[in-house]
Amino acid sequence: MMVEKAKSERIPGYCALCWSSCGCISIVEDGCLIAVEPDPEHPTGKSLCGKGKAAPEYIYSDARVLHPMKRTRPKGDPDPGWEQISWEEALDTTAAELKRIQRRSGAESIAFSITTSAGTAMQDGYPFVERLRQAFGTPNAVASIELCAFAKDFVYPHTFGVPMPMSDVSNSDCVILWGNNPGTTWLAFGTRVAEAKKRGAKLVVVDPVRVGAAAKADEWLQVRPGTDGALALSIANVMIKEDLFDGDFVREWTNGPFFVRDDNGQFITGADLEQGGDPKLRVVWDEAQARLAYYDTQIGTYADSKIGVVAALVGAREIETIHGTKICRPAFERYRDLCNEYSPERTEEITWISADQIRAT
Ligand code: SF4
Repeated sequence: MMVEKAKSERIPGYCALCWSSCGCISIVEDGCLIAVEPDPEHPTGKSLCGKGKAAPEYIYSDARVLHPMKRTRPKGDPDPGWEQISWEEALDTTAAELKRIQRRSGAESIAFSITTSAGTAMQDGYPFVERLRQAFGTPNAVASIELCAFAKDFVYPHTFGVPMPMSDVSNSDCVILWGNNPGTTWLAFGTRVAEAKKRGAKLVVVDPVRVGAAAKADEWLQVRPGTDGALALSIANVMIKEDLFDGDFVREWTNGPFFVRDDNGQFITGADLEQGGDPKLRVVWDEAQARLAYYDTQIGTYADSKIGVVAALVGAREIETIHGTKICRPAFERYRDLCNEYSPERTEEITWISADQIRAT
């Protein structure tokens, strides 16, 4: 008897089981997903983690819930009495209950809960849940994130002011991974870091534990947990003292030139310099014209951008404000002074990283 060969397809796509969105090829035989492979042609498809490769196990698991289920016994009953219902009934029941609670207690009494995007295929559904939540009228959202998300979702916005850009490691000569092991937490990024290292980029890893990228680093800084801030200030201290930083970049892309008042530690603004002035304007000393100049934080450039401003990074000044004369200095100068407190020798005592290694980094 002839055995008919299974019809096999290779379907390109991407793994939706976390934000990494690794490009992959799904191998489907007779309509059944049997394997998932990396797709090296895809920008994020050089490799897949164990979770992505296990996709067929998720799909065909006996424990997978395939239909809406309704509890028919009270909460607390050892047997919930699950009954399968249609999608229509599930949506109608949910909508009716949401409206009932909204009428009784207001929209804000409801919180929309979103499952983790690292344990489900929920990542592409986030914007839709958010849209529904906002249309419903509640500010309350409950979401869980994993340890890996802190670096991506919080450190980036605090550092750059925007969420989660993919660092341009492909064009970098030095890559720093600080408390971040992308081989485990963001595979597509980890692959790019590995390629950059292969190309000759220096890899610096700050991590108390020598695992993952730390084990392959050119410079592994085994920081004592909880002392990262001191280490960062000390490295910056060396860079400033030895003039190893890009002053033009600091002028253009940071708030380093903005004047800060000595008396209250606040940025001085347009509202401090004139009645009815704009509080969104920051003030710098323009070395080219030897005068004060405004930086407009709304448009991200100098208010009088036709005249090239060369903003001073250091130098205290007495500035006449509507509150009287105030001594101000650029934020960068205050930062430099703070860094000065963290010599490599003092930082060695705090972080347990040798002063020599701090200088070498
Ligand atoms: S890292 Fe793993 S789970 Fe995340 S997208 Fe890639 S293969 Fe899927």
